[in-house]
Amino acid sequence: MDKKNTYLNEREKLLTPLLAIEEASRCLLCHDAPCSKACPSATDPAKFIRSLRFRNIKGAAETIRENNVLGGICARVCPTSKYCEDACSRCGIDKPIEIRKLQRYLTAYEKATGMTVLEPVEAVKEKIAIIGSGPSGLSAAASLVRDGYKVTVFEQKNKLGGWLSYGIPTERLPQSVIDDEIRYIKDLGVEFKTNCKIGQNINIDDLKQQGFKAILIAVGMQNSKMINIKGMELNGVLKGTEYLSEAKSTDGDIDIGEHVIVIGGGDVAIDCAVTTKLLGCEDVKIVYRRTIDKMPADIEEIKHLQSLNIPIYTGFKPEEIIGKDGSVNRFKAVGMFDDASLELVADRIIFAIGQEADPIKNIADVDVNDKQIISICDYQTNIEGVFAAGDIVEGDKTVVYAVKHGKDAAIEIANYLNEMANVKGDR
Ligand SMILES: Cc1cc2nc3c(=O)[nH]c(=O)nc-3n(C[C@H](O)[C@H](O)[C@H](O)COP(=O)(O)OP(=O)(O)OC[C@H]3O[C@@H](n4cnc5c(N)ncnc54)[C@H](O)[C@@H]3O)c2cc1C
Ligand code: SF4
Repeated sequence: MDKKNTYLNEREKLLTPLLAIEEASRCLLCHDAPCSKACPSATDPAKFIRSLRFRNIKGAAETIRENNVLGGICARVCPTSKYCEDACSRCGIDKPIEIRKLQRYLTAYEKATGMTVLEPVEAVKEKIAIIGSGPSGLSAAASLVRDGYKVTVFEQKNKLGGWLSYGIPTERLPQSVIDDEIRYIKDLGVEFKTNCKIGQNINIDDLKQQGFKAILIAVGMQNSKMINIKGMELNGVLKGTEYLSEAKSTDGDIDIGEHVIVIGGGDVAIDCAVTTKLLGCEDVKIVYRRTIDKMPADIEEIKHLQSLNIPIYTGFKPEEIIGKDGSVNRFKAVGMFDDASLELVADRIIFAIGQEADPIKNIADVDVNDKQIISICDYQTNIEGVFAAGDIVEGDKTVVYAVKHGKDAAIEIANYLNEMANVKGDR
């Protein structure tokens, strides 16, 4: 297996114009457009499919970009089997329209033909700070700058994009696609400050003093959860998100081991297992505590995992990691539903059992629940002028949902600033 080609090349092929129009022609042109209702970010697939079907490719591409500034990214990572494609009326006849692939075709057309759908707007309104450059922060920034606000995004890391750049593997989401869409947002006038951790370098009070009239916390969930079993201190016990970040930032130039076990059943677990396999490790296994139908990962990703012959041991929870000379040597698990047990040879154990937030109180004294999720009402926190969106608040933990949050939070921020201006009568 050629490591560079399999890990670095985008997995899914782009539709040809003929196939795209043919696929769009399967659309039943439903009156109530269930696909559009099921898209969290209101990208309006019914409208862009209809335009494409009637050969208005430019109009179709415009619909996507106007509604979803990260349309090209969503066209690669959306779990459509639980959103737009799940709602497609053709599900009841044969199979849903391949909406994500059509969206990818149209965003590729937009780029190839050099279209500029969104133009910069003069920044005449208040200064707004956004903390975090993941999809929720990016989407909010684009909406606000298009509304005439002066927007600055503060990012603690060197690269922008949050988990888009640091988590989702290249074979599903090439960095060039992320860079293109972020450049688009920069060209709209958003200012970015990287290597700037709010709560460490500066805090929210400093931002207010610098004249930012509203602040959006869009910091996501940055830490991999771990469990407390014997052997966690051994070399070779890894955190899933850190593993993927390292693989992505080194273009796959990492030490993968020979016998790898991934613990978990979500997208991150699948990405860890697939990445390891594509990078040349023959013995990769997933261990998951529930049954396969309960796995939260996208069904298409589970199918891909199976096509790579990666076995999934279901119904087991980790019991102990046994070491040799300070490194992982064997892994033991016990049955969740019976008294079964499992013992496997391993030199790497990758934990991908969910993420948790950094202590939010370092950033602001906002109300949070016991999982560090920020409590909001219409995206507003308990602190005047401070809003929150994305993975750090309640909701689906997906890119398209983060885009929705960014758009919706932008509306609430604009409403708030308008109200403030009306109260002061200074507009
Ligand atoms: C490996 C992996 C694979 C995934 N695959 C998919 C997928 O296929 N499809 C899908 O829809 N979703 C997927 N997701 C989930 C999706 O990426 C997240 O739901 C989404 O990125 C959340 O966006 P966000 O903007 O809330 O936060 P994030 O993407 O986490 O971005 C938050 C940003 O804030 C920055 N930040 C944090 N604290 C500070 C601070 N104090 N100061 C300044 N900056 C700060 C962080 O560095 C980060 O850049 C995946 C996630 C992972 C980890
Ligand atoms: S953004 Fe995602 S959920 Fe919405 S229509 Fe496009 S592929 Fe479907």
